Amino acid sequence: MDFTLSPDTEALRRRVKQFIDDIVIPRESEDLWTQPERLDEIRRELQAQAKAAELYLPHLPKALGGLGLNWSDTAVIFEEAGRSLLGPRALNAAAPDDGNMRTLSHWGTPAQHARWLKPLLAGDIRSCFAMTEPAPGAGSDPSALLTVASKVPGGWRINGRKWFITGAEGASLAIVLARTDAGATMFLVDTSNPGFRLGRAMRTMDSFAVGGHSELAFVDCEVGDDDVLGEINRGFHHAQYRLAPARVTHCMRFLGAAVRAVEITQRYVTQRQSFGRVLSDHQAVQTQLADCHIEIRAARLMVAHTAWELDHLEPTAVKHGSSMTKVFVSETVHRVIDRCMQLCGGWGTTEESMLAHLYADVRPFRIYDGPSEVHRASIAKRVLNRSMRP
Ligand SMILES: Cc1cc2nc3c(=O)[nH]c(=O)nc-3n(C[C@H](O)[C@H](O)[C@H](O)COP(=O)(O)OP(=O)(O)OC[C@H]3O[C@@H](n4cnc5c(N)ncnc54)[C@H](O)[C@@H]3O)c2cc1C
Repeated sequence: MDFTLSPDTEALRRRVKQFIDDIVIPRESEDLWTQPERLDEIRRELQAQAKAAELYLPHLPKALGGLGLNWSDTAVIFEEAGRSLLGPRALNAAAPDDGNMRTLSHWGTPAQHARWLKPLLAGDIRSCFAMTEPAPGAGSDPSALLTVASKVPGGWRINGRKWFITGAEGASLAIVLARTDAGATMFLVDTSNPGFRLGRAMRTMDSFAVGGHSELAFVDCEVGDDDVLGEINRGFHHAQYRLAPARVTHCMRFLGAAVRAVEITQRYVTQRQSFGRVLSDHQAVQTQLADCHIEIRAARLMVAHTAWELDHLEPTAVKHGSSMTKVFVSETVHRVIDRCMQLCGGWGTTEESMLAHLYADVRPFRIYDGPSEVHRASIAKRVLNRSMRP
């Protein structure tokens, strides 16, 4: 197994690192968490700079205006971009637009590409992906889906509620999963549709999500037959096709967040004195730092293996690996950043250290894209049913 990066990938990785250090990280200090509307302005400015630096859409094919990286190289570049919570956005490689662009490019018709994919690729509009519902609807168990789409002449009428929908505020497009006669179907809903209602903003602990996380209502929301994305009644399959790689891209980006936390911590512990020595001279501090490095390395290897699978297998065949990777990486980056906060003392809990933001961003990842418990249950079911070897 050869882990050497190609010269092109290594050169790109260095350029992304420099872009994040010089252009993106300085923008973090602008008190964005107290003025979330500024996040979208900054997204546009950073995306213009990423385009100029030829770092934009690294993960998408050249035919779509991207840099045409495969999954293995994408993992390297996303990790580098993820060192700033603004980094993936700057490259137009952040959720949910990232997964939505891939879904549209795979399942969309030429007309849907022209109407939605093209402006999303350009960063002219944003989108959201609406699956989760308040109880008793879809959550950990998507099959509890309650939002319904009924057939009407020439189209569909959608009724239902969604919540926790990332990026909904200011989005032009919502990809909505709704129940249809024999399963579920994905619909493309223009958010200017009078039946689309943006509800309350749900104040989750993270603070760098452009467009926040919102409650939505669909009230007799009429869409055309040409707004069906993919095949009718195949929505659960299409959602899995989107989610298996999407959760791995989260892992790639959040690995970068853990790396950043360790960088911050290493600076702190090599400068701060306690009990007559610099902190890094205390063995208990060294042990914790070593554990951060060991665990990041293990997580990176899991991401690299799953990225290799994505390069060589169908996305639906990567479900098992992507589930295992998602559980391991979400729990690892959370533990690493928590440890970093501990090592940085009171300063580590502040926004100015960035560690509080990094922590707040990675914590919900143990819940979204499938909670750890649900992934463990499906992993166990698969290995028992198929008598799989580890
Ligand atoms: C920051 C954030 C952003 C999000 N963005 C989006 C988005 O853009 N679009 C979208 O559609 N959704 C989004 N979500 C929703 C997310 O996908 C759901 O929160 C997730 O699927 C879990 O569903 P739930 O919250 O209803 O938890 P519930 O279904 O109520 O489950 C609660 C807990 O019960 C436990 N549990 C559930 N089932 C089992 C089981 N079988 N075995 C053992 N334990 C179990 C788990 O610990 C789980 O966390 C987001 C959530 C967050 C926090």
